[in-house]
Amino acid sequence: MHSSISKKILAWYQKYQRDLPWRKYKNQKDRHYKVLLSEFMLQQTQVKTALPFFNNFYKKINSLEKLSKTSQAKVNKLWQGLGYYRRAKFLLETSKIIKKKYNYKLPSQYEDLIALPGIGDYTAKAILSIAFDKNEIGMDGNVERVVTRIFNISGKKKILKYVERLKVEKKSSFLMQGLMELGALICKPKLPLCSDCFLNKNCKYSSNKKFNLDKKVKAEKKIKKFIAIIFRKNKKILLRHEKNLGPLKEFLNVPLVPEISQEGRNYKKILKKNKNYQNLGILNISISNFKAEILCLETKKMIKVNRPYYFMNATELKSKFISSFLKKILKKIKFIK
Ligand code: SF4
Repeated sequence: MHSSISKKILAWYQKYQRDLPWRKYKNQKDRHYKVLLSEFMLQQTQVKTALPFFNNFYKKINSLEKLSKTSQAKVNKLWQGLGYYRRAKFLLETSKIIKKKYNYKLPSQYEDLIALPGIGDYTAKAILSIAFDKNEIGMDGNVERVVTRIFNISGKKKILKYVERLKVEKKSSFLMQGLMELGALICKPKLPLCSDCFLNKNCKYSSNKKFNLDKKVKAEKKIKKFIAIIFRKNKKILLRHEKNLGPLKEFLNVPLVPEISQEGRNYKKILKKNKNYQNLGILNISISNFKAEILCLETKKMIKVNRPYYFMNATELKSKFISSFLKKILKKIKFIK
């Protein structure tokens, strides 16, 4: 069971991982530096917060050599706004020790890593796995939550035992990152998106009724009405991220306008008289914490939409991890089968 779960996580991660700057590297040295820097920045900080800081920091200081020769004042300046300044202090100290003791080479042994300032058990294991592909899994909040739910277990000791069983000989880096990615995108702390999860058939949390929303809660789910704006151009469809969609806000979607908003009311009026708009029908979709009633409205003209937005065809969408919510809309409007 454990190996089939690990295989699924590996396959999912390799296909759908987010495009993050520390996941792309020029060579091993660059990989080690990017993993070290990102792991320091990601301590107590979310990916989207750390992202611009990482990019800016790397633009100015792009190697361990350069970092070890930088002043604390400059490192602090680049860290400004990210908080927890002890990390900036420890990062610089760590780089100086690596320079002196390891001739600028990031150590690849647990005992050496954990002896460095700012590196605890989790960060040491994460570095070994992500930077060196070693057979390790660092247990942060995401990993702990995912493993706890999949196996319906509790207690640090037991969780660690199950984490051990998930380990793989090859592609350990992908497994570790896959577990974290699963926790960040799908197996969210408050509302896990079990219906969108590739592990829902293996997962005790999702199959255990005790954890599922009971009928009463289901009946109490709020109904939110939206208008989905469908705009197609050269076999591509307009997509963006939808802030209104709670747990699905990080996933791509067609533009959705709340029906009660001024914009929503305008669209409803337009629909009655403007021939450029066509009513494609209503769709009801239940997501974790509410029910959505969606009126699908197709327009022949591009609408006003804030950047970033995207145009994708059905083939391009296949390579993205899309929610079952979007899938249902795309099926309804016959964009995909
Ligand atoms: S099925 Fe649900 S609880 Fe289980 S891993 Fe996936 S999102 Fe988490």
